[in-house]
Amino acid sequence: MPKISFTTWQQLSQFHNPLKNGELDTQAIEIRQDPLTGCQSILNEAFRGKISFAFPQTDYDYLHRRMNETGDQCFMCEGKWRLTSPRYPEDLLPGGRLERGETVLFPNLFPFAPYHAVVMVGEKHGRTLDQFSPSLLFDAFSVCLEFIKRCFDADPKTPYFTINANFMPPAGSSIMHPHLQVIGSPIPSTHLRVLLEKSLAYQRDKGSCYWTDLIETEKESGQRWVAQFGASSWFTAFSPVGVNEVDAVWPDKSNFTQWGEDDVRALAEGISLTLSAYHELKFSTFNLTCFSGPLGKSLPEFRSFLRLINRQNMHPHYRTDDFYLQKLHEDEIIVTPPEQLASFIKGVQASHSR
Ligand SMILES: [Zn+2]
Repeated sequence: MPKISFTTWQQLSQFHNPLKNGELDTQAIEIRQDPLTGCQSILNEAFRGKISFAFPQTDYDYLHRRMNETGDQCFMCEGKWRLTSPRYPEDLLPGGRLERGETVLFPNLFPFAPYHAVVMVGEKHGRTLDQFSPSLLFDAFSVCLEFIKRCFDADPKTPYFTINANFMPPAGSSIMHPHLQVIGSPIPSTHLRVLLEKSLAYQRDKGSCYWTDLIETEKESGQRWVAQFGASSWFTAFSPVGVNEVDAVWPDKSNFTQWGEDDVRALAEGISLTLSAYHELKFSTFNLTCFSGPLGKSLPEFRSFLRLINRQNMHPHYRTDDFYLQKLHEDEIIVTPPEQLASFIKGVQASHSR
């Protein structure tokens, strides 16, 4: 018996369809529920046939034009960040910023939390999703981890840190230059609080950890399993909260203070593979959050966990992919069935290793 069971509901919708000469059409709708949060997602095979309407493929001419048009004003490019970016106080970060390879961390000019840093990911202003190498991402996430550990040493009353990214304007980014954001606060974000509360309730109810049970269940079924990178397990989300959601769990680490170099390398390798697969699907934008339990506490019920999703593609006059369903109902539309997405990513991984 799998440790976690996945709930679905099958429903039908009937109407006379002008696209089928006015005949009575019956469309099957599957609703899926996330086993931890209860968040629902909706799969309609008929809608998938119209995907080019909801998610037009990336217009690469437009993408490159926007990259060229925005490079000159970019405050990061050509080392301009040395003059233009803010610095942390010396007692927190000697020199005010953290540098590693082509990456550099500095404060966000308009923070949303006591610690809110920006990490420039490489010197190149514009990248497509096949241009995020594991080594570049390793440097970028390494400075995030170093920053998080330094903040916690200096201020142990601020234990809730996440690593995040908005890539490209349809994903919420105000600049095109690739970057990450680290947020550290004395209180968790709404979603992190829900994850922590539900994980504790699961542990109390079942006497085991949801996250290690999830890995075991996904590995056993194999339907959504993608890969193992180092100690981390990668699979597609059964009931995604965003388009093409890929998740990763670190089964031995409840929070970032427990992370070592191998964990950062696993994160970088898994994200690099997933972004390459997104690129092959002709997607060009993403959001990600790597969650951590409170720093310095080894919670038996929680594990470090990544969500990585696509957003609307780069094309002129793009419309947002988030409408009332996502923003006000917290439901999501399934664009690629998670089982097909997992098999696609595995194919990309196999073609890379050939
Ligand atoms: Zn730039």
